[in-house]
Amino acid sequence: MAELSPVLKQATPVLAARGEGVHLYDEDDRRFLDFTAGIGVTSTGHCHPRVVEAAQRQVGTLIHGQYTTVLHRPLLQLTERLGQVLPAGLDRLFYVNSGSEAVEASVRLARQATGRQNIVAFSGGFHGRTMGAGALTTSGTKTRAGIGPMMPGVAFAPFPEPYRHGWSQSEAVRFALTELDHVLATVSPPADTAALIVEPVLGEGGYIPAPPEFLTGLRQRADRHGALLIVDEVQTGVGRTGRFWGLDHAGVRPDVVITAKGLASGFPLSAVAAPDELMSRAWPGSQGGTYGGNAVAAAAAVATLDIVHEEGLVANAAEQGARLAEGLRTVAADHPVLGDVRGRGLMIGNEFTAPDGSPDAAGAARAQQAAAERGLLLLTCGPHGNVVRMIPPLVVTAEHVDEAVAVWAEAMQAATA
Ligand code: PMP
Repeated sequence: MAELSPVLKQATPVLAARGEGVHLYDEDDRRFLDFTAGIGVTSTGHCHPRVVEAAQRQVGTLIHGQYTTVLHRPLLQLTERLGQVLPAGLDRLFYVNSGSEAVEASVRLARQATGRQNIVAFSGGFHGRTMGAGALTTSGTKTRAGIGPMMPGVAFAPFPEPYRHGWSQSEAVRFALTELDHVLATVSPPADTAALIVEPVLGEGGYIPAPPEFLTGLRQRADRHGALLIVDEVQTGVGRTGRFWGLDHAGVRPDVVITAKGLASGFPLSAVAAPDELMSRAWPGSQGGTYGGNAVAAAAAVATLDIVHEEGLVANAAEQGARLAEGLRTVAADHPVLGDVRGRGLMIGNEFTAPDGSPDAAGAARAQQAAAERGLLLLTCGPHGNVVRMIPPLVVTAEHVDEAVAVWAEAMQAATA
């Protein structure tokens, strides 16, 4: 009998039969509070009736338009809707299927548009698993070990990590920008540097928000050296951080924005957006793909954007995120192993640190498992796997948040007993 490959790592033993809002149900109809949102994908909750209706309608009308062969209305609508929320000037878009694919596409775009080849990425960043996106990824070794050599032309500079170094935010930013200048003076000369790529909140690398001054500093370097600033909003976009884009917390102008995950509430869809002036410097036909901009995914994305807007989900993410962070800090106050609780909006990490200051991955795994046994699904992240992250659907209510915090408190008691 065939089985799933052991190359996959299962975060929970749950066999999900159905999903509704912030809940998943297994085949015995046991209910789980889903604070994973399928790694930040089910922004409008599981099976939001309007997403279901839009997708069902589209399935019965046109499933596969193939957007470089024929255009279709859902994609035109989606492009118009995204244009209303994207940073000013980023009004040329193309679509692919996953975050990784969009990241790789942005690298190809940056290389073609600038005639330069290097990309500077930041330590702890996650941009995907495929060979090109994986080459930009340093959130851990599992996407690199035994896999390289990776795509060449990548240099790394530090991401500001105040907690890890015991620094203030401004110290961490000063260090990161000084090191970036050093990398540009030694490893990746500006004349060879096509782009800087950054996540507004370091995601898989440990849920560490980028301080606004850091992002401002990146913009300055990009301008000074004629490089592009690519912002990977795959996990942070579409309201997740309590603003529509993670970058909105810094008010910095990007050259390229990548969005995926929450965009289509679970249908595979990603987009790359940039100004016309930049997109026009790339070769026609150099981007695209068979399934990119699938009609059903596009219809689901239009519904998603409508729901996010009409149900006020960005404001809800800010409000519930603040409530969740406050609750989690109360729990952390009782558990010294919870060294840091941080995040933005509904993207919050709980970092486990052993008494000797080392990352406590075993403690994080125990707490995650204790939470799952009590009906709360969570994921871990961070280079050492010692950060338990909470990333619920954006439709989460105060009651769900309070329930999750109560279960987390119980799970922490059980895991540290
Ligand atoms: N970029 C970021 C910031 C991500 O969080 C992820 C996925 N965790 C990716 C890219 C890759 O996306 P995908 O898994 O859809 O390829």
